[in-house]
Parts: sequence; structure tokens; C-alpha cells
Amino acid sequence: MDLSRRDFFKLSAETVTGTALGGVAGLGAGLAPTLAQAQALRIEKAQATPSVCPYCSVGCATLVHTVKGKIVNIEGDPRSPHNEGTLCPKGAAIYQLHINPNRPTKVLHRAPGAADWEVWDLDRAMDRVAQLVKKTRDETFIERLENGRLVNCTTAIFSLGGATLDNEWNHMQQKLLRGLGIVAIENQARI
Ligand code: SF4
Repeated sequence: MDLSRRDFFKLSAETVTGTALGGVAGLGAGLAPTLAQAQALRIEKAQATPSVCPYCSVGCATLVHTVKGKIVNIEGDPRSPHNEGTLCPKGAAIYQLHINPNRPTKVLHRAPGAADWEVWDLDRAMDRVAQLVKKTRDETFIERLENGRLVNCTTAIFSLGGATLDNEWNHMQQKLLRGLGIVAIENQARI
């Protein structure tokens, strides 16, 4: 194959974008109508379900497109008064939350001072977390202040929830942690 330097960069652009359309773009064709049609085809038979980006407290509205229950696309909802169909780069990558093959799916544990990660099963990891929470709480629990005021708390444990946690989870988290006397509870969605 006889490639000029210019052709090589055009074909590289095609490879980087990973689409045939990218290659056509590299050769100078007008793509707006083609891309619009490709976008329409991609979601043509999909069901659109309104949702909310889970990543921060802005709460941008999204449309989740599914085909036979499988997510095929997520984009900003143009009907939203505050994000008007747009998403920031992080929100635009929400699809990756579901399909990225690089997401860790196993519990990884690295012991203090160790250089390598160990794969733990979930039960073992949950037991370890529970043991450490109980130990820390028992060792640091304060029933009364020096002036005799009843406080029943520990300030040695801090909980930071992720914005992808749902209402039910957060409700249970509050019940559990308040019951243990933990007072420092925060959620990324509020920060
Ligand atoms: S992470 Fe971005 S897209 Fe998601 S809610 Fe926040 S600003 Fe919106």
C-alpha cells in the first residue's frame, strides 16, 4: 500500500476515532448530515428514560436510551432548564459507569506496607470493615463530656458517601452511623 505522509495521518485519525466516519472526515467530506443520521439511527428504536447524572450536586438531567433493557446511550436531556441537553466531560462519560471493562469488579485489599494488591472475597472484606468500625468505635466512644453533658458519640470515624448512592442507601447509612454515634457524615453530592 502506497501511503503519503498526509494519507498516513488521515488514516491514523480514522483509527483514533475508531469509526469509519472519522476516516471520511479525515478526507474532507462534510459530515454533519451523516453524523445526525447516525445519531438518529443509534437511538431510533431505543426507549428514552429521564434520569439524573450521579456525579455531582448540579444534578444535570439525562436521557438514558435502552434497547431490550440494555443501555445503548446516555446524553443530556434538552428539556432540562439548567443543563439544556449538555453534560460536562465527566457527565458525558456516564455510559462508562455501566460498560467500562476496566472497572474493578473484585474486592482488592492492600495490607499496610504491602506493595501488591490481594483479591478478597466480598464476605471477608465486609467482615474486616465491620471489625475495624466496631473496634474504632469502642476505643473512641465518648459517653459524656467533662462537664457531664451526655453526647454518646465518636469523632474518630468519618463517612463520605458517593453521589451515586441512592436515597434508600443514604437513609440506611444515616440510621446505622447515627446509631453507632458517628457524627461526621457527609455526601459528595452536597459538597
Ligand atoms: S458531573 Fe457534570 S454532568 Fe454530572 S451533574 Fe455534575 S456538572 Fe452535570
